[in-house]
Amino acid sequence: MTVRTRIAPSPTGDPHVGTAYIALFNLAFARQHGGQFLLRIEDTDQARSTAESEQSIYDSLRWLGLDWDEGPDVGGDNGPYRQSERRDIYAKHIEILLESGHAFKCYRTAQELDELRAQKQEAGGFSALKFSDLELPEDVVAQRESEGASYVVRMHVPEEGVCTFNDMLRGDIEMDWGMVDCQILMKSDGMPTYHLANVVDDHLMDITHVIRGEEWLSSAPKHQLLYKYFGWDMPVLCHMPLLRNPDKSKLSKRKNPTSILYYKHMGFMPEALLNYLGRMGWSMPDEREQFSRDEMFSHFDISRVSLGGPIFDQEKLSWLNSQWIRDLSESEFVEQFIKWGLNKEALAPAIAHIQPRIERFSDVVPLAGFLLSGMPEVDETDFAHKSIEPTQMVELLQMGLWQLEAIRDWQKPEIQQRLFALAKIEGVKPKDFLYGFFVAIAGTPNSFSVLDSMAIIGPDMSRARVRHSVDVLGGISKKAMKKLDKKYRDVSAQIELQLADIDA
Ligand code: GLU
Repeated sequence: MTVRTRIAPSPTGDPHVGTAYIALFNLAFARQHGGQFLLRIEDTDQARSTAESEQSIYDSLRWLGLDWDEGPDVGGDNGPYRQSERRDIYAKHIEILLESGHAFKCYRTAQELDELRAQKQEAGGFSALKFSDLELPEDVVAQRESEGASYVVRMHVPEEGVCTFNDMLRGDIEMDWGMVDCQILMKSDGMPTYHLANVVDDHLMDITHVIRGEEWLSSAPKHQLLYKYFGWDMPVLCHMPLLRNPDKSKLSKRKNPTSILYYKHMGFMPEALLNYLGRMGWSMPDEREQFSRDEMFSHFDISRVSLGGPIFDQEKLSWLNSQWIRDLSESEFVEQFIKWGLNKEALAPAIAHIQPRIERFSDVVPLAGFLLSGMPEVDETDFAHKSIEPTQMVELLQMGLWQLEAIRDWQKPEIQQRLFALAKIEGVKPKDFLYGFFVAIAGTPNSFSVLDSMAIIGPDMSRARVRHSVDVLGGISKKAMKKLDKKYRDVSAQIELQLADIDA
């Protein structure tokens, strides 16, 4: 048997360090066994998937030195490797399940589903929806069918009893079937859900080992059942512990930058970031902290993964990076530094802002050094503004940050539209509104266009600096955040409407 593993990211948003972490362990496992590693793009959520996000997954995994043997961009014998191009395959498999009676069409309306859930909750016990809950009398089904009502396809799951499945790191795990819904396999628009597409693809792509994040453990009973319904052997499952923030909560961008691109722009060496990810729940037999990708691969043993949640700590990562930097020869240092930020590609977008403003080249760094820096050195006093109170300042920055997080195509016009729309709703003049953003991004209100600066330094670095400023200003208390969140929902809806009008 040839070992075949895969990473199956969804191309939504920024490429996540968690994706690189899981990719690394899949690749290490495949290489250790002389097997193959493939990349599949799970883009069944068409509304949220973007081509830019897909490209940034390829770029950032390659930057880290993670290569795949098969994938949408490199081809292979088991393609297509993008789920949106495999609809016919899923439709065929849905038919198989409907014919064998393992799946059923469900004509329940959203309102009925809400009522059913409420009833179950009230009755106590498990609230998962079962066939006995969802079943409609035959004449009602016929009626809805003849009216062309929309339906989803769901899988049958046992009403009760215990499901046992095996995980490579945890051994046998038991889960009560009572907790498992009759999972939707195909949505009313004909698109498959993650569960169906994932199982069908893993089988057709000959995946032997599914190494994925712990958050998918609860999907295992459904997947095991689907393999049984199709009469297929199930790959070995291995659920990796989730990366955590230093406070042990699940790694989230609210507390830690999670985009691989952020670490690239911050000037972490790819070797160091990969090394650090390799230490998440795993260690070399001799416990050494610094090791290369190939050293990790030659000593890899997945059974040495420990299940305690590994902490992704910026300070430890920075220390490890400093070790990698110290190990560079002078010429390697120069080469890497130039490759990182002192090259034509990195500098070109800033020249139009720098050239008209300077008299000597020695003016460049004082004027534009912030473009290549990490977090600016600022404190609360830097944000003091004549007409914006500190509490309002921090709220404007936070709401601005949420708007920046909503941008899919990071260009100046959209950054401007969103932030100015927010300023208008908040009744603040654009110039005053941008004051805090100048300080957050450039470290000073006296810089060239902050909107252009954000476009140049990119989404991950811009968001990280604004987030940092919110922290510098003391953050927002839980209570205030709840209130702000509520208010923001309204504000954001208004802005989305305005943007839709502009697009139309
Ligand atoms: N598309 C899923 C994700 O985004 C894949 C999970 C899995 O590996 O099965 O993580």
